[in-house]
Amino acid sequence: MPIVVQKFGGTSVANAEKIKRAAQRAINAFKEGNQVVVVASARGKQTDELVADALELNSNPPKREMDMLLSTGEQQTVSLMAMALDSMGHKAISFTGTQIRMMTDGAHSKARIISIDADRIHEKLDSDHIVIVAGFQGMDDHDDITTLGRGGSDTSAVALAAALNAKVCEIYTDVDGIYTTDPRLYKKAAKMDQISYDEMLELASLGAGVMHSRAVEFGKKYEVNIHVRSSLTNDPGTLITEEVPKMEGILVSGATIQKELAKITLVSIDNTPGNAAKVFSHIAKAHVSVNDIIQVEINAEKANLSFTLAKSDLIDAKKAIEEIKEEVHCESVFVRDDIAEVSVVGVGMRSHCGVADTMFHALSEAKVNIDSITTSEIRISCIVDKDHGEKALIAVCDAFELDKPIDKRSN
Ligand code: ASP
Ligand code: MG
Repeated sequence: MPIVVQKFGGTSVANAEKIKRAAQRAINAFKEGNQVVVVASARGKQTDELVADALELNSNPPKREMDMLLSTGEQQTVSLMAMALDSMGHKAISFTGTQIRMMTDGAHSKARIISIDADRIHEKLDSDHIVIVAGFQGMDDHDDITTLGRGGSDTSAVALAAALNAKVCEIYTDVDGIYTTDPRLYKKAAKMDQISYDEMLELASLGAGVMHSRAVEFGKKYEVNIHVRSSLTNDPGTLITEEVPKMEGILVSGATIQKELAKITLVSIDNTPGNAAKVFSHIAKAHVSVNDIIQVEINAEKANLSFTLAKSDLIDAKKAIEEIKEEVHCESVFVRDDIAEVSVVGVGMRSHCGVADTMFHALSEAKVNIDSITTSEIRISCIVDKDHGEKALIAVCDAFELDKPIDKRSN
């Protein structure tokens, strides 16, 4: 029998009413001839509340104890869900991460899944149970409870879907799918029917916060079909899936804006082997994660080196650069914290030209100046003045017709 994994996020299980609705969905999928595994998050804002409880007692709580505490939120949801299913006349059983041996590394608060023992789940599915698994949690090889990082239930669900070879992993949430861009900034944004793993990974890393990016990575690695859809309606949402030829015909699938960015430029450093390594290993030691890097040679002796980073890392990064700048003979350091990055993403860029041209043209028509440009195989990003960020996003969305479903676009 095919297996369906259904994941319900915090808002979709916030109260008894919603838990019943989620339980009904699981029953419906069962009646359609599937074996059903439900993965649930903590109810509503419960994880935030538990974090607040911890901080009241200790401003820097031990991470092991934090995982013990936070994992209780999900444990409550799954037992309640099993009770709801039981009252609706359905066999159901809940499991914690530990009970299904969801093994992770020992990195408390950001653990990575290593393996899952699916036997116990299969055994229950084969005796007609709906199996409900606590998301977000696992166990390390000291038998300590770990958690996967905030929003990690998505990753639990996709990893389970991979381990069980499920036909689909449905992510039920409070939005009805993935949009071409943030509908709060571009009201005409269109919902996508399908998007490839690679595009979704780019969008997620660019701040489109619909899904945990580790979940998409898992999905890609194990070819799990991920269906992001609304917990309020029966309408289909967006399928995150392998790249299909149809996708290649579309130049741009989505656009994003990141506003909390800064850029640091080391002006005129020595153009010698090893300097970039020196700078970035020093930055890494300061636990600053770098977004994009641009190095430009000025002449045989000198080069300019710029990188973008989250604004929240700027103080640490500036300090690190001050420490290393003499060593690479940097003439001056130039910092901008008033920038935004507008990006377009699409696998079609691999085989089509003209995307950059269209984007730059749109920005110039909108009178937006481009500070710098970076690209990947399926992405083009422009740094612009923060004040012009939203205007730039709208101009780009209009240029690529991101208000239309893909089959209605002219490009
Ligand atoms: N409850 C956890 C959180 O709030 C995990 C999740 O929601 O996916 O981050
Ligand atoms: Mg969540």
